[in-house]
This record gives sequence, structure tokens and C-alpha cells, in this order.
Amino acid sequence: MRFCQTCGKEILDEAVICPGCGCRVSREVERTDGGKDGLAVASKIFLILGCIAQGWMLLPLAWCLPITISVCGKMKRGEPVGTGLKVCALLFVSLLGGIFLLCRSDEK
Ligand SMILES: [Zn+2]
Repeated sequence: MRFCQTCGKEILDEAVICPGCGCRVSREVERTDGGKDGLAVASKIFLILGCIAQGWMLLPLAWCLPITISVCGKMKRGEPVGTGLKVCALLFVSLLGGIFLLCRSDEK
């Protein structure tokens, strides 16, 4: 459904000239479609960016699980948790968890 740019009368989608006032009406529709295409491009860009952001989230996730399992396993067995592993846990898994790990003494 379209409306004449000049007189505002409702016109057919395929109409080139407005039956109400005789003005050409094709240009406005082209401009509107262009705007829609711009929105489509913008939404595509944001969707792709979102996918990339999600992809980046997978990388830290791939770190989180092995680090957590390794730290928990070492603590359960009473083995010392290396400083490097603690720092990795702090950076990649949990800031507070890593701080607690660093504060915790391995020696018993
Ligand atoms: Zn008109």
C-alpha cells in the first residue's frame, strides 16, 4: 500500500502517476525501498557482529572448563595448584575465584 507524496491519496503499488493529482509517484517508493535495504544491511552487519561476538565467547568457554576441572581436581587431590594456573583461572574463569586461589596456600 502506497500513498501519493503530493496529495496523500492512496494509490496502487504499481502506479506511476497518482490518479488524484496526476503527479509522478514512483520516486518516493524507490527511496523508501532504499531505506529498507539500508536497514537490512545494518541488521545483517549487526547479526554477523553478534555471531563473531558469540564465536569469541566460545574461545574463553573452551578455556574455562579445562581450567576449572584441573584446579578442582588438584585441590581435591591435595596437589599444589600452580601460580600460572591460578592466574589463568583469575583471567579466564573468575576474577574472585582466581583471587581466592592466589590467597589460598598450597602448603599444608
Ligand atoms: Zn496525488
